[in-house]
Amino acid sequence: MKGWRSNMSIQVVDPGHGGYDPGCSGNGLEEKDLTLDISRRVCQHLEAKYKTDAKMTRLSDKYISLQGRCDFANRLKAGSFLSVHINAGGGTGFESYVVPNAHPDSAGLLQKNVHKHMGPILKKYDHRDRGKKKANFHVIRVSRMKACLVEIGFIDTDKDAKLLKSDAFLDDVAEALADAIADTEGLEKKVTEPKPEPDPDPEDTFFRVVAGSFQKKDNAEQRVKELEEKGFDAFIDAKH
Ligand SMILES: [Zn+2]
Repeated sequence: MKGWRSNMSIQVVDPGHGGYDPGCSGNGLEEKDLTLDISRRVCQHLEAKYKTDAKMTRLSDKYISLQGRCDFANRLKAGSFLSVHINAGGGTGFESYVVPNAHPDSAGLLQKNVHKHMGPILKKYDHRDRGKKKANFHVIRVSRMKACLVEIGFIDTDKDAKLLKSDAFLDDVAEALADAIADTEGLEKKVTEPKPEPDPDPEDTFFRVVAGSFQKKDNAEQRVKELEEKGFDAFIDAKH
């Protein structure tokens, strides 16, 4: 068997469900829309802040099989795989899953970092941390890289649904998840250089040629005359 070497510069984010599989629903929300929205934001934060390529298993409202999602990530040999889901069943809060035999330096590290970076966000929005859990979900079992599945909140709980409808919450969660991936993979931060002062528009700039300063108006007039004779436009600018 060929050795597995992951490409640490590629991260895969997996928006759960899609197409004819809406996932769970409640409070006018569908899981497949939220997972796509959050995953897009995770990728945007990853690529804006870090030197990495972030890929999604689906970019639109499309059905992809669980195996198809794993195949996608395995083919890319991604460094990490984050599957984004929304919970249902009347609970409240955020939780994450890795496979039961997850290595503490691999998927276990990703899960640890997810909770580390989500911590301040959960506090900020008073959203419960339900903990680091283990389960044999297909997408995290068959994906060969560090793989973690997150359940952001409960779609059928009023308090959670309110958060899931908040742009600020979704964006803060996405940034924390992006930071967790970056932390796990040791991704290099992009240097945001201060923008250089823009060059002044050349059309807004004019240059004044001074051809002498005189105390006596007569002398100034004489100079203007000389310049005009040579074909230059000249005028007197009096300063007191
Ligand atoms: Zn789901």
